[in-house]
Amino acid sequence: MYIETLPVEAEREIKKVVEVAGYLWQREWAERNGGNISLDLTEYFEGVELELSQFAHNPLTIVGDGAGFPKDSAGHVFFVKGTGERIRELREPHLAGCILKIDETAEGYHLLWGGRGDPHFKPTSEFISHVEIMMDKQRSGSNHRCVVHSHPLELIALSHLPKCSSNENNFTEVCWQMLPEVRAFVPQGIGIVPYCMPGSQDIAVGTMEKLRNHDVAIWEKHGAVATGVDVAEAFDFMDVANKGAKLYLMCLSAGFEPQGVSEADMLLLKETFNL
Ligand SMILES: [Zn+2]
Repeated sequence: MYIETLPVEAEREIKKVVEVAGYLWQREWAERNGGNISLDLTEYFEGVELELSQFAHNPLTIVGDGAGFPKDSAGHVFFVKGTGERIRELREPHLAGCILKIDETAEGYHLLWGGRGDPHFKPTSEFISHVEIMMDKQRSGSNHRCVVHSHPLELIALSHLPKCSSNENNFTEVCWQMLPEVRAFVPQGIGIVPYCMPGSQDIAVGTMEKLRNHDVAIWEKHGAVATGVDVAEAFDFMDVANKGAKLYLMCLSAGFEPQGVSEADMLLLKETFNL
């Protein structure tokens, strides 16, 4: 059994996913099945009566050394891309994605919607870490309900530059100094998770910790993760940060080290906009 009519708010949020998924593909930030988007839709399903025994149930598949779902995610409803599915195919979200509800012991999930109508449809292998991040945000009182992981070209390129990859303050400064908007709209800066295996517990915990006090977490030599109230906001953090990285690399490509917005002007921005 599947839900036929989604709550309008859930439909609205999934429409935004379709839009942003298109951007990620067009920007070359999500080749093949790279990149993921997850949304917590729980609040929109609060009044919806579900006879859960009617919906396909699957145990959680744990990859690598990963841990299970956090216990307080029991009963939460998420939209997530399927494992092996392409971001660009999220233009049909009921095929490349699904809506699932974590079961009451947080050891498995019920498929509520989408997933190609396959009762064994599995969420992306990054899903547990996405749930960890979203629950961590909620525990801290944040209104962020979305996680995006993608492969922004210039942010990745910059994570290969030792002076930036070894020091997140340098990484952040390099991006901030390139135009005032980066300072203003990525105010908490960029954190770096040193290279580790995708899907590992190290990368999951490292990302969760970095996103507690940064707007974007870079996975060294791999990609970026950001959260937001919705998918548009999560994308914006990554997009604006990437603009800084791109401008910096453009200057280096043109053969000069950029002068950058001065420290005094950056400070003035911080004070004026209360960043
Ligand atoms: Zn990736």
